[in-house]
Amino acid sequence: MRDTLQHHISTLRGALNGKVIGADDPRYDDVRRVFFTGFDRRPAAIVRVTGANDVARVVGLARETGAELAVRSGGHSRAGHGTSEGGIVIDLSAMNAVEIDPTTRTAWAQTGVTAGDYTAQTGAHGLTTGLGDTPSVGLGGITLGGGIGYLVRMTGLTIDDVLAAEVVTAAGELLRADAHVHPELFWALRGGGGNFGVVTRLKLRLHAIDRVVGGMLLLPASPDVITGLVAAADAADDGLSLIANILKAPPLPFIPAEQHGTPIVMIQMVYAGDADAGAAAIAPIRALATPLADMVRPIRYPEMYAGAEGPAPAFAAGTNLLVDELSTGTADTILAHVETATAAIAAVQLRVLGGAMARVADDATAFGHRRARVMVNIAAMDPRAETRPEHEAWAAELATALADGGPERAYLGFVGDEGEHGVRRAYPPATLERLARVKRRYDPDNLFRRNLNVVPDARR
Ligand SMILES: Cc1cc2nc3c(=O)[nH]c(=O)nc-3n(C[C@H](O)[C@H](O)[C@H](O)COP(=O)(O)OP(=O)(O)OC[C@H]3O[C@@H](n4cnc5c(N)ncnc54)[C@H](O)[C@@H]3O)c2cc1C
Repeated sequence: MRDTLQHHISTLRGALNGKVIGADDPRYDDVRRVFFTGFDRRPAAIVRVTGANDVARVVGLARETGAELAVRSGGHSRAGHGTSEGGIVIDLSAMNAVEIDPTTRTAWAQTGVTAGDYTAQTGAHGLTTGLGDTPSVGLGGITLGGGIGYLVRMTGLTIDDVLAAEVVTAAGELLRADAHVHPELFWALRGGGGNFGVVTRLKLRLHAIDRVVGGMLLLPASPDVITGLVAAADAADDGLSLIANILKAPPLPFIPAEQHGTPIVMIQMVYAGDADAGAAAIAPIRALATPLADMVRPIRYPEMYAGAEGPAPAFAAGTNLLVDELSTGTADTILAHVETATAAIAAVQLRVLGGAMARVADDATAFGHRRARVMVNIAAMDPRAETRPEHEAWAAELATALADGGPERAYLGFVGDEGEHGVRRAYPPATLERLARVKRRYDPDNLFRRNLNVVPDARR
Protein backbone atom coordinates (compact mmCIF):
# COMPACT_ATOMS: atom_id res chain seq x y z
CA MET A 1 0.00 0.00 0.00
CA ARG A 2 2.79 2.38 1.04
CA ASP A 3 4.86 1.51 -2.05
CA THR A 4 1.86 1.92 -4.34
CA LEU A 5 1.14 5.30 -2.80
CA GLN A 6 4.78 6.37 -3.25
CA HIS A 7 4.63 5.22 -6.87
CA HIS A 8 1.49 7.29 -7.48
CA ILE A 9 3.03 10.28 -5.76
CA SER A 10 6.13 10.11 -7.95
CA THR A 11 3.95 10.09 -11.08
CA LEU A 12 2.29 13.27 -9.80
CA ARG A 13 5.56 15.18 -9.87
CA GLY A 14 5.67 15.60 -13.63
CA ALA A 15 1.94 16.16 -13.94
CA LEU A 16 1.51 19.21 -11.74
CA ASN A 17 2.40 22.87 -11.86
CA GLY A 18 2.69 22.82 -8.09
CA LYS A 19 5.33 21.20 -5.90
CA VAL A 20 5.16 17.70 -4.47
CA ILE A 21 7.15 17.66 -1.25
CA GLY A 22 8.02 14.29 0.25
CA ALA A 23 10.07 13.22 3.27
CA ASP A 24 13.31 13.34 1.23
CA ASP A 25 12.83 17.03 0.41
CA PRO A 26 14.78 19.59 2.48
CA ARG A 27 11.58 21.66 2.76
CA TYR A 28 9.58 18.76 4.24
CA ASP A 29 9.87 19.66 7.93
CA ASP A 30 8.96 23.23 7.22
CA VAL A 31 5.92 22.54 5.04
CA ARG A 32 4.47 19.72 7.16
CA ARG A 33 4.17 22.06 10.15
CA VAL A 34 0.72 23.44 11.01
CA PHE A 35 -0.16 26.28 13.40
CA PHE A 36 -0.41 24.05 16.50
CA THR A 37 3.04 22.51 16.56
CA GLY A 38 1.87 19.56 18.69
CA PHE A 39 0.32 17.99 15.55
CA ASP A 40 3.70 16.61 14.53
CA ARG A 41 2.46 14.41 11.67
CA ARG A 42 4.43 12.92 8.78
CA PRO A 43 2.37 12.94 5.58
CA ALA A 44 3.48 10.82 2.62
CA ALA A 45 3.53 14.07 0.64
CA ILE A 46 2.46 17.67 0.87
CA VAL A 47 1.34 19.03 -2.47
CA ARG A 48 1.61 22.77 -2.80
CA VAL A 49 -1.00 23.22 -5.52
CA THR A 50 -1.16 26.21 -7.86
CA GLY A 51 -4.63 25.84 -9.38
CA ALA A 52 -7.81 23.79 -9.68
CA ASN A 53 -6.17 21.36 -12.14
CA ASP A 54 -3.50 20.47 -9.60
CA VAL A 55 -6.18 20.04 -6.96
CA ALA A 56 -8.22 17.73 -9.19
CA ARG A 57 -5.19 15.53 -9.84
CA VAL A 58 -4.39 15.13 -6.16
CA VAL A 59 -8.04 14.43 -5.36
CA GLY A 60 -7.97 11.76 -8.09
CA LEU A 61 -4.86 10.20 -6.58
CA ALA A 62 -6.44 10.04 -3.13
CA ARG A 63 -9.58 8.52 -4.61
CA GLU A 64 -7.60 5.85 -6.48
CA THR A 65 -5.22 4.93 -3.67
CA GLY A 66 -7.53 5.35 -0.67
CA ALA A 67 -4.88 7.55 0.98
CA GLU A 68 -6.15 9.92 3.64
CA LEU A 69 -6.54 13.41 2.20
CA ALA A 70 -6.02 16.54 4.31
CA VAL A 71 -6.90 19.97 2.93
CA ARG A 72 -5.05 22.97 4.30
CA SER A 73 -5.51 26.68 3.73
CA GLY A 74 -3.99 28.44 6.75
CA GLY A 75 -3.32 25.35 8.90
CA HIS A 76 -5.10 26.59 12.05
CA SER A 77 -7.46 23.67 12.64
CA ARG A 78 -7.72 23.08 16.37
CA ALA A 79 -8.00 19.36 15.63
CA GLY A 80 -4.92 19.29 13.38
CA HIS A 81 -7.04 18.43 10.35
CA GLY A 82 -4.70 20.36 8.06
CA THR A 83 -2.18 17.53 8.19
CA SER A 84 -2.17 13.72 8.12
CA GLU A 85 -0.07 10.82 9.31
CA GLY A 86 0.92 8.95 6.15
CA GLY A 87 -1.67 10.60 3.91
CA ILE A 88 -1.57 13.41 1.37
CA VAL A 89 -1.92 17.09 2.17
CA ILE A 90 -3.30 19.57 -0.33
CA ASP A 91 -1.59 22.80 0.73
CA LEU A 92 -3.37 25.82 -0.76
CA SER A 93 -1.01 28.46 0.62
CA ALA A 94 0.41 29.30 -2.83
CA MET A 95 -3.14 29.89 -4.11
CA ASN A 96 -3.47 33.29 -2.50
CA ALA A 97 -4.50 35.67 -5.28
CA VAL A 98 -7.25 38.23 -4.62
CA GLU A 99 -8.98 40.00 -7.52
CA ILE A 100 -10.85 43.04 -6.33
CA ASP A 101 -13.59 44.83 -8.27
CA PRO A 102 -14.21 48.10 -6.43
CA THR A 103 -17.11 48.97 -8.76
CA THR A 104 -19.23 45.96 -7.87
CA ARG A 105 -17.66 45.77 -4.40
CA THR A 106 -16.78 42.11 -4.83
CA ALA A 107 -13.59 40.05 -4.69
CA TRP A 108 -12.65 36.66 -6.10
CA ALA A 109 -10.14 35.24 -3.65
CA GLN A 110 -8.20 32.00 -3.77
CA THR A 111 -8.71 30.21 -0.49
CA GLY A 112 -5.03 29.95 0.49
CA VAL A 113 -4.85 33.67 1.21
CA THR A 114 -4.63 34.55 4.89
CA ALA A 115 -7.16 36.76 6.66
CA GLY A 116 -4.44 39.39 7.16
CA ASP A 117 -3.37 39.50 3.51
CA TYR A 118 -6.96 39.55 2.28
CA THR A 119 -7.79 42.43 4.62
CA ALA A 120 -4.68 44.39 3.62
CA GLN A 121 -5.41 43.99 -0.10
CA THR A 122 -9.11 44.87 0.09
CA GLY A 123 -8.32 47.60 2.62
CA ALA A 124 -6.17 49.34 0.01
CA HIS A 125 -9.51 50.12 -1.70
CA GLY A 126 -11.21 51.14 1.56
CA LEU A 127 -13.22 47.90 1.40
CA THR A 128 -13.38 44.76 3.52
CA THR A 129 -15.10 41.50 4.38
CA GLY A 130 -15.40 40.49 8.03
CA LEU A 131 -13.02 37.65 8.95
CA GLY A 132 -11.63 36.64 12.35
CA ASP A 133 -9.20 38.13 14.85
CA THR A 134 -5.96 36.51 13.68
CA PRO A 135 -4.12 37.49 10.49
CA SER A 136 -2.52 34.09 9.81
CA VAL A 137 -5.82 32.15 9.72
CA GLY A 138 -6.65 30.91 6.20
CA LEU A 139 -9.59 32.27 4.23
CA GLY A 140 -10.63 28.70 3.32
CA GLY A 141 -10.99 27.30 6.81
CA ILE A 142 -12.54 30.30 8.48
CA THR A 143 -15.11 30.85 5.75
CA LEU A 144 -16.26 27.26 5.44
CA GLY A 145 -16.90 27.13 9.20
CA GLY A 146 -18.85 30.40 9.28
CA GLY A 147 -16.46 33.21 10.21
CA ILE A 148 -17.01 35.24 13.38
CA GLY A 149 -14.92 38.37 13.73
CA TYR A 150 -14.68 42.09 14.39
CA LEU A 151 -17.64 42.90 12.14
CA VAL A 152 -19.98 40.06 13.09
CA ARG A 153 -22.74 42.30 14.46
CA MET A 154 -22.33 44.83 11.63
CA THR A 155 -22.07 42.64 8.51
CA GLY A 156 -22.79 39.13 9.85
CA LEU A 157 -20.76 35.96 9.48
CA THR A 158 -18.15 35.70 6.71
CA ILE A 159 -20.46 33.25 4.92
CA ASP A 160 -23.12 35.95 4.72
CA ASP A 161 -20.81 37.68 2.25
CA VAL A 162 -20.06 34.61 0.13
CA LEU A 163 -21.68 35.07 -3.28
CA ALA A 164 -20.21 32.06 -5.09
CA ALA A 165 -17.61 29.33 -4.70
CA GLU A 166 -15.51 27.21 -7.02
CA VAL A 167 -15.09 23.68 -5.74
CA VAL A 168 -13.22 20.59 -6.85
CA THR A 169 -15.47 17.71 -5.84
CA ALA A 170 -14.57 14.15 -4.88
CA ALA A 171 -15.15 13.16 -8.52
CA GLY A 172 -12.45 15.67 -9.53
CA GLU A 173 -14.90 18.04 -11.21
CA LEU A 174 -14.53 21.80 -10.88
CA LEU A 175 -17.98 23.20 -10.07
CA ARG A 176 -19.23 26.69 -9.49
CA ALA A 177 -21.82 26.88 -6.73
CA ASP A 178 -24.02 29.87 -6.04
CA ALA A 179 -27.64 30.68 -5.27
CA HIS A 180 -28.71 29.41 -8.72
CA VAL A 181 -26.21 26.73 -9.72
CA HIS A 182 -25.74 23.78 -7.34
CA PRO A 183 -27.73 25.69 -4.69
CA GLU A 184 -27.68 22.84 -2.17
CA LEU A 185 -23.90 22.63 -2.40
CA PHE A 186 -23.74 26.41 -2.00
CA TRP A 187 -25.94 26.13 1.10
CA ALA A 188 -23.72 23.39 2.56
CA LEU A 189 -20.44 25.18 1.92
CA ARG A 190 -21.58 28.07 4.07
CA GLY A 191 -20.95 26.50 7.47
CA GLY A 192 -20.48 22.84 6.51
CA GLY A 193 -16.66 22.92 6.76
CA GLY A 194 -14.41 20.97 4.41
CA ASN A 195 -16.85 18.12 3.80
CA PHE A 196 -17.89 18.79 0.22
CA GLY A 197 -14.75 19.30 -1.82
CA VAL A 198 -11.73 21.54 -2.10
CA VAL A 199 -12.88 25.14 -2.42
CA THR A 200 -10.36 26.85 -4.65
CA ARG A 201 -11.92 30.32 -4.96
CA LEU A 202 -14.60 32.35 -3.21
CA LYS A 203 -16.52 35.34 -4.48
CA LEU A 204 -17.01 37.67 -1.54
CA ARG A 205 -19.02 40.84 -0.99
CA LEU A 206 -16.96 43.83 0.12
CA HIS A 207 -18.20 46.52 2.47
CA ALA A 208 -17.10 50.15 2.43
CA ILE A 209 -15.74 49.98 5.97
CA ASP A 210 -12.42 51.76 6.39
CA ARG A 211 -12.27 54.35 9.18
CA VAL A 212 -13.44 52.69 12.40
CA VAL A 213 -12.94 53.10 16.12
CA GLY A 214 -10.95 50.13 17.26
CA GLY A 215 -8.21 48.62 19.35
CA MET A 216 -7.66 47.15 22.77
CA LEU A 217 -9.11 48.11 26.13
CA LEU A 218 -7.81 46.46 29.30
CA LEU A 219 -9.95 46.37 32.42
CA PRO A 220 -9.29 44.74 35.77
CA ALA A 221 -11.44 41.59 35.95
CA SER A 222 -14.23 41.33 38.52
CA PRO A 223 -17.66 39.67 38.38
CA ASP A 224 -19.29 43.10 37.93
CA VAL A 225 -16.98 44.07 35.08
CA ILE A 226 -17.61 40.79 33.24
CA THR A 227 -21.38 40.90 33.69
CA GLY A 228 -21.50 44.61 32.85
CA LEU A 229 -19.38 44.10 29.74
CA VAL A 230 -21.71 41.45 28.32
CA ALA A 231 -24.76 43.62 29.06
CA ALA A 232 -23.17 46.74 27.52
CA ALA A 233 -22.01 44.91 24.39
CA ASP A 234 -25.47 43.39 24.00
CA ALA A 235 -27.17 46.79 24.37
CA ALA A 236 -24.79 48.59 21.96
CA ASP A 237 -25.84 49.19 18.37
CA ASP A 238 -24.72 46.74 15.69
CA GLY A 239 -21.67 48.85 14.85
CA LEU A 240 -19.88 47.43 17.89
CA SER A 241 -18.40 43.92 17.90
CA LEU A 242 -15.95 42.79 20.53
CA ILE A 243 -13.82 39.90 21.65
CA ALA A 244 -13.04 39.83 25.38
CA ASN A 245 -10.42 37.53 26.89
CA ILE A 246 -10.39 36.97 30.62
CA LEU A 247 -6.94 35.83 31.63
CA LYS A 248 -4.11 36.41 34.06
CA ALA A 249 -2.29 39.55 32.93
CA PRO A 250 0.82 38.63 30.97
CA PRO A 251 3.97 40.67 31.64
CA LEU A 252 3.45 43.04 28.73
CA PRO A 253 4.99 46.52 28.82
CA PHE A 254 1.64 48.36 28.57
CA ILE A 255 0.20 46.52 31.59
CA PRO A 256 1.16 48.04 34.98
CA ALA A 257 3.70 45.70 36.66
CA GLU A 258 1.57 45.31 39.81
CA GLN A 259 -1.23 43.80 37.67
CA HIS A 260 0.93 41.06 36.14
CA GLY A 261 -0.53 37.66 37.05
CA THR A 262 -3.87 39.09 38.23
CA PRO A 263 -7.08 38.48 36.22
CA ILE A 264 -7.83 41.12 33.62
CA VAL A 265 -10.28 41.51 30.75
CA MET A 266 -8.50 42.17 27.47
CA ILE A 267 -11.06 43.50 25.01
CA GLN A 268 -10.40 43.84 21.28
CA MET A 269 -13.16 45.85 19.70
CA VAL A 270 -14.26 47.55 16.52
CA TYR A 271 -16.94 50.16 16.12
CA ALA A 272 -17.74 50.33 12.40
CA GLY A 273 -18.99 53.88 12.18
CA ASP A 274 -17.91 57.44 12.82
CA ALA A 275 -15.72 58.48 15.73
CA ASP A 276 -18.42 60.22 17.78
CA ALA A 277 -20.89 57.36 17.49
CA GLY A 278 -18.07 54.98 18.35
CA ALA A 279 -17.06 56.92 21.45
CA ALA A 280 -20.72 56.94 22.59
CA ALA A 281 -21.11 53.18 22.01
CA ILE A 282 -17.91 52.38 23.89
CA ALA A 283 -18.47 54.82 26.79
CA PRO A 284 -20.50 52.37 28.93
CA ILE A 285 -17.69 49.80 28.62
CA ARG A 286 -14.96 52.31 29.47
CA ALA A 287 -17.03 53.27 32.53
CA LEU A 288 -17.08 49.73 33.96
CA ALA A 289 -13.74 50.26 35.76
CA THR A 290 -10.67 52.44 35.52
CA PRO A 291 -8.94 51.03 32.41
CA LEU A 292 -5.47 49.55 32.88
CA ALA A 293 -4.75 50.50 29.27
CA ASP A 294 -6.92 52.11 26.61
CA MET A 295 -5.72 51.85 23.03
CA VAL A 296 -9.14 52.22 21.42
CA ARG A 297 -8.98 55.07 18.92
CA PRO A 298 -9.94 56.06 15.38
CA ILE A 299 -7.99 53.76 13.04
CA ARG A 300 -8.23 52.21 9.60
CA TYR A 301 -9.86 48.78 9.80
CA PRO A 302 -6.81 46.77 8.55
CA GLU A 303 -4.84 48.10 11.55
CA MET A 304 -6.76 45.58 13.66
CA TYR A 305 -4.45 42.99 12.11
CA ALA A 306 -1.23 44.94 12.63
CA GLY A 307 1.56 43.69 14.86
CA ALA A 308 3.35 40.38 15.10
CA GLU A 309 1.57 37.25 16.31
CA GLY A 310 3.05 35.49 19.33
CA PRO A 311 4.90 32.16 19.03
CA ALA A 312 2.64 29.27 18.03
CA PRO A 313 1.60 26.97 20.89
CA ALA A 314 1.81 23.17 20.78
CA PHE A 315 -1.94 22.87 21.13
CA ALA A 316 -5.03 24.62 22.41
CA ALA A 317 -6.77 22.48 24.98
CA GLY A 318 -10.33 23.56 25.43
CA THR A 319 -13.60 23.94 23.78
CA ASN A 320 -16.26 26.29 22.60
CA LEU A 321 -19.86 26.90 23.60
CA LEU A 322 -22.67 28.98 22.21
CA VAL A 323 -25.03 30.15 24.94
CA ASP A 324 -28.05 32.42 25.23
CA GLU A 325 -27.08 34.05 28.47
CA LEU A 326 -24.48 33.95 31.15
CA SER A 327 -26.41 33.09 34.28
CA THR A 328 -25.84 34.69 37.68
CA GLY A 329 -22.64 33.37 39.13
CA THR A 330 -21.08 32.66 35.73
CA ALA A 331 -18.62 35.51 36.05
CA ASP A 332 -17.48 34.20 39.47
CA THR A 333 -17.05 30.71 38.00
CA ILE A 334 -14.98 32.04 35.10
CA LEU A 335 -12.77 34.10 37.40
CA ALA A 336 -12.21 31.24 39.81
CA HIS A 337 -11.15 29.01 36.92
CA VAL A 338 -8.82 31.56 35.41
CA GLU A 339 -7.12 31.89 38.82
CA THR A 340 -6.43 28.15 39.03
CA ALA A 341 -5.21 27.70 35.43
CA THR A 342 -1.68 26.36 35.05
CA ALA A 343 -1.20 26.64 31.26
CA ALA A 344 1.21 29.24 29.88
CA ILE A 345 -1.83 31.08 28.52
CA ALA A 346 -5.31 30.19 29.71
CA ALA A 347 -8.16 32.39 28.62
CA VAL A 348 -11.90 32.41 28.66
CA GLN A 349 -13.04 34.37 25.67
CA LEU A 350 -16.47 35.94 25.36
CA ARG A 351 -17.89 37.24 22.10
CA VAL A 352 -21.27 38.92 22.29
CA LEU A 353 -23.13 38.03 19.10
CA GLY A 354 -26.47 39.19 17.66
CA GLY A 355 -26.90 42.02 15.16
CA ALA A 356 -26.54 41.12 11.47
CA MET A 357 -25.53 37.53 12.26
CA ALA A 358 -28.88 36.91 13.97
CA ARG A 359 -30.99 38.48 11.23
CA VAL A 360 -30.39 35.55 8.86
CA ALA A 361 -32.69 32.51 9.13
CA ASP A 362 -31.22 29.42 10.81
CA ASP A 363 -31.86 27.32 7.69
CA ALA A 364 -30.55 29.86 5.15
CA THR A 365 -27.03 28.44 5.44
CA ALA A 366 -25.45 25.45 7.17
CA PHE A 367 -24.67 27.65 10.19
CA GLY A 368 -27.72 26.82 12.27
CA HIS A 369 -27.08 28.55 15.60
CA ARG A 370 -27.75 32.11 14.47
CA ARG A 371 -29.55 33.29 17.56
CA ALA A 372 -26.99 32.32 20.19
CA ARG A 373 -26.21 35.46 22.20
CA VAL A 374 -22.69 34.72 23.40
CA MET A 375 -19.82 32.55 22.19
CA VAL A 376 -17.52 31.26 24.92
CA ASN A 377 -14.11 29.94 23.96
CA ILE A 378 -12.14 28.17 26.63
CA ALA A 379 -8.52 27.79 25.61
CA ALA A 380 -5.41 26.71 27.45
CA MET A 381 -2.27 26.93 25.36
CA ASP A 382 1.13 25.68 26.30
CA PRO A 383 4.40 24.91 24.52
CA ARG A 384 4.72 21.65 26.52
CA ALA A 385 2.61 19.06 24.67
CA GLU A 386 2.77 16.64 27.63
CA THR A 387 0.74 19.01 29.81
CA ARG A 388 -2.29 18.77 27.53
CA PRO A 389 -4.40 16.27 29.58
CA GLU A 390 -4.21 18.51 32.64
CA HIS A 391 -5.42 21.53 30.65
CA GLU A 392 -8.15 19.57 28.86
CA ALA A 393 -9.52 18.60 32.29
CA TRP A 394 -9.42 22.25 33.38
CA ALA A 395 -11.32 23.34 30.27
CA ALA A 396 -13.86 20.52 30.41
CA GLU A 397 -14.74 21.31 34.01
CA LEU A 398 -15.40 24.95 33.15
CA ALA A 399 -17.38 24.04 30.02
CA THR A 400 -19.65 21.77 32.07
CA ALA A 401 -20.23 24.54 34.59
CA LEU A 402 -21.03 27.10 31.89
CA ALA A 403 -23.30 24.83 29.83
CA ASP A 404 -25.44 24.56 32.96
CA GLY A 405 -27.22 21.45 31.63
CA GLY A 406 -28.69 23.45 28.73
CA PRO A 407 -28.52 22.66 25.01
CA GLU A 408 -24.98 22.07 23.95
CA ARG A 409 -24.18 24.17 20.90
CA ALA A 410 -20.80 25.05 19.45
CA TYR A 411 -19.16 27.01 16.65
CA LEU A 412 -17.50 24.61 14.20
CA GLY A 413 -14.43 26.84 13.75
CA PHE A 414 -13.35 26.37 17.35
CA VAL A 415 -14.38 22.76 17.90
CA GLY A 416 -11.38 20.54 18.47
CA ASP A 417 -11.10 16.83 17.86
CA GLU A 418 -14.43 15.95 19.45
CA GLY A 419 -15.53 13.52 16.73
CA GLU A 420 -19.24 12.93 16.32
CA HIS A 421 -20.06 14.76 19.54
CA GLY A 422 -18.44 17.91 18.12
CA VAL A 423 -20.37 17.56 14.86
CA ARG A 424 -23.65 17.21 16.77
CA ARG A 425 -22.86 20.32 18.80
CA ALA A 426 -22.01 22.31 15.67
CA TYR A 427 -25.21 21.50 13.78
CA PRO A 428 -28.85 21.39 14.82
CA PRO A 429 -30.39 17.99 13.83
CA ALA A 430 -32.23 19.35 10.75
CA THR A 431 -29.04 21.02 9.47
CA LEU A 432 -27.01 17.85 9.97
CA GLU A 433 -29.57 15.74 8.11
CA ARG A 434 -29.57 18.15 5.18
CA LEU A 435 -25.76 18.25 5.16
CA ALA A 436 -25.70 14.43 5.06
CA ARG A 437 -27.95 14.50 1.98
CA VAL A 438 -25.69 17.03 0.22
CA LYS A 439 -22.69 14.93 1.23
CA ARG A 440 -24.29 11.84 -0.35
CA ARG A 441 -24.63 13.74 -3.62
CA TYR A 442 -21.18 15.36 -3.79
CA ASP A 443 -18.97 13.01 -1.74
CA PRO A 444 -20.81 9.67 -1.40
CA ASP A 445 -17.66 7.74 -0.44
CA ASN A 446 -16.57 10.27 2.16
CA LEU A 447 -13.25 11.10 0.52
CA PHE A 448 -13.22 14.40 2.45
CA ARG A 449 -13.28 12.94 5.94
CA ARG A 450 -10.31 14.60 7.64
CA ASN A 451 -12.55 17.27 9.15
CA LEU A 452 -15.49 17.49 11.55
CA ASN A 453 -17.06 14.83 9.47
CA VAL A 454 -20.55 14.77 8.08
CA VAL A 455 -21.19 11.13 7.20
CA PRO A 456 -23.06 10.75 3.88
CA ASP A 457 -26.73 9.88 4.22
CA ALA A 458 -26.87 6.12 3.69
CA ARG A 459 -30.22 6.18 1.83
CA ARG A 460 -29.47 5.68 -1.82
C1 LIG B 1 -5.28 31.55 16.72
C2 LIG B 1 -6.63 31.29 16.11
C3 LIG B 1 -7.54 32.33 16.02
C4 LIG B 1 -8.80 32.12 15.45
N1 LIG B 1 -9.68 33.16 15.38
C5 LIG B 1 -10.89 32.97 14.80
C6 LIG B 1 -11.83 34.03 14.72
O1 LIG B 1 -11.59 35.14 15.18
N2 LIG B 1 -13.02 33.79 14.12
C7 LIG B 1 -13.34 32.57 13.61
O2 LIG B 1 -14.43 32.44 13.05
N3 LIG B 1 -12.48 31.54 13.69
C8 LIG B 1 -11.28 31.71 14.28
N4 LIG B 1 -10.42 30.64 14.41
C9 LIG B 1 -10.85 29.31 13.98
C10 LIG B 1 -10.52 29.12 12.52
O3 LIG B 1 -11.43 29.85 11.72
C11 LIG B 1 -10.62 27.63 12.16
O4 LIG B 1 -9.69 26.89 12.89
C12 LIG B 1 -10.37 27.43 10.67
O5 LIG B 1 -10.75 26.13 10.28
C13 LIG B 1 -8.92 27.67 10.32
O6 LIG B 1 -8.79 27.79 8.97
P1 LIG B 1 -7.37 27.52 8.30
O7 LIG B 1 -7.59 27.55 6.83
O8 LIG B 1 -6.36 28.43 8.89
O9 LIG B 1 -7.05 26.07 8.83
P2 LIG B 1 -6.78 24.67 8.10
O10 LIG B 1 -6.24 23.79 9.18
O11 LIG B 1 -5.97 24.88 6.89
O12 LIG B 1 -8.20 24.21 7.67
C14 LIG B 1 -9.13 23.72 8.61
C15 LIG B 1 -10.07 22.76 7.91
O13 LIG B 1 -10.90 23.50 7.03
C16 LIG B 1 -11.08 22.77 5.82
N5 LIG B 1 -10.55 23.59 4.73
C17 LIG B 1 -9.68 24.62 4.82
N6 LIG B 1 -9.53 25.18 3.62
C18 LIG B 1 -10.31 24.49 2.77
C19 LIG B 1 -10.59 24.61 1.39
N7 LIG B 1 -10.06 25.58 0.66
N8 LIG B 1 -11.45 23.73 0.82
C20 LIG B 1 -12.02 22.75 1.57
N9 LIG B 1 -11.79 22.60 2.88
C21 LIG B 1 -10.94 23.47 3.47
C22 LIG B 1 -10.40 21.45 5.96
O14 LIG B 1 -11.33 20.51 6.44
C23 LIG B 1 -9.37 21.74 7.03
O15 LIG B 1 -9.06 20.59 7.78
C24 LIG B 1 -9.15 30.82 14.97
C25 LIG B 1 -8.24 29.77 15.10
C26 LIG B 1 -6.99 30.00 15.65
C27 LIG B 1 -6.04 28.86 15.79
